[in-house]
Amino acid sequence: MKVLVAEDDLTTRSILKAVLMKWGYDVEAVRDGNEALAALLREDAPKLVVLDWMMPGLNGVEICATLRAAENPLPPYIILLTARGKKEDIVQGLQSGANDYILKPFNNEELRARLRVGERMIDLQHQLFQAIEQQKKLAYTDPLTGIANRRAILDRLESEMARARRDQVSLWIAILDIDHFKRINDNFGHLAGDRVLQECVERISRSIRKYDCFGRYGGEEFLLIFPAVESGAEMQTLERIRKTMADREMNVEDNSIHITVSLGAVKWNGSDTMDEMILKADDALYRAKQNGRNRVEYDRQSPAAKNPPVQVPGTER
Ligand code: GH3
Ligand code: MG
Ligand code: MG
Ligand code: MG
Repeated sequence: MKVLVAEDDLTTRSILKAVLMKWGYDVEAVRDGNEALAALLREDAPKLVVLDWMMPGLNGVEICATLRAAENPLPPYIILLTARGKKEDIVQGLQSGANDYILKPFNNEELRARLRVGERMIDLQHQLFQAIEQQKKLAYTDPLTGIANRRAILDRLESEMARARRDQVSLWIAILDIDHFKRINDNFGHLAGDRVLQECVERISRSIRKYDCFGRYGGEEFLLIFPAVESGAEMQTLERIRKTMADREMNVEDNSIHITVSLGAVKWNGSDTMDEMILKADDALYRAKQNGRNRVEYDRQSPAAKNPPVQVPGTER
C-alpha cells in the first residue's frame, strides 16, 4: 500500500521513510504542507497518510480540514504526527478531520499497529463504496436487457430537458411499443418473449446516435430520447427503428419471429413539463395503434406532423 509521509524535519522524515519501507509500504515523502496537499489531491493519491502537524506552508490540521471539505467518497486515512500532547491539541487535531494521531517521539511498534488499523479502515471503506456503487447500478438498470430502467431514463430525460433549455437545442422523445406482444408470449412462450425484448434493445441500439439514449419504460415499451437533432433527422431515425424491426425476422430458439413496433413522438416545446411531454408522446402512440400499428405518429403540434413521412401500411402477421 502507498503511504504519504509529510514531515519537514529531515531526520524524522528519513527515519519514517526507512521504517515504513522496511514494513513493505510504498512510501512517498514530502517536506511541507503545500506539497502534501498537492499529492493528496492527485488522482492516484495515497490513501494512507502520516502527516506532521507543524510544517511550513499549510500545517497538518489545515490539510485535514481542506481534505474533509472536499467530500471525497474515498478520503485518505490520516494519522497526525505531533509533539503537541495536550488534550486540547488532540481534540483539535481529530476534530479537523484526522483519523488518528501519534505523539513524537513515536514508538515504532505503535506506529506500525496504527498503520494496520488504517489499512483495515481503508479496506472496509473501499468495500462499502463498491457495494453502494453496485446497488446504485442495480437500482438504475433493467435486469432483463441491461439498459436504463424507468427511473433511470426519466432521470435522464429530466437532465436532457435542463440541458436543452440551457444550450438552446432541440429535444425529441418517442415511446416505442411492441405490437401485439402478448401474442408472442402466447405463441412462443414467455422466455421467447424475453429474448425478443433483448433483440429489440439490440436493434434500437444500432439505430440511434451515441448521444441518443433509451430505457425500458414498461413491459414492452421503451422511452427514447433524442437531444439536439437536426430538423428532419428525427423522422429518419424513427423510421429506421420501425424498419429495423419490421424488415427482418428474429431468430429466437429455433423460431423465426416477426415483430412490428409502433412509435409516438413529440418535440419538446420548451415549456411542457416532463409529464405533459410524455402524455403527448403517449397520445401519438395511441394514434399509431389506432391507425394500424407498425407506424410512427407525431404529436400534432410537433413540426414533423405538418409534413409526415410516407408510411408503409401495417404489415403485421
Ligand atoms: P398492443 O399492440 O396494443 O401494444 O398489444 P400488446 O399485446 O403488445 O399489449 P398488451 O399491453 O396487451 O400486452 C403487453 C404484454 O407484454 C403483456 C405482458 O405479459 C408482456 N410483457 C411485459 N413485460 C414482459 C417481459 O418482461 N417479458 C415478457 N416475455 N413479456 C412481457
Ligand atoms: Mg514539523
Ligand atoms: Mg404496451
Ligand atoms: Mg404492445
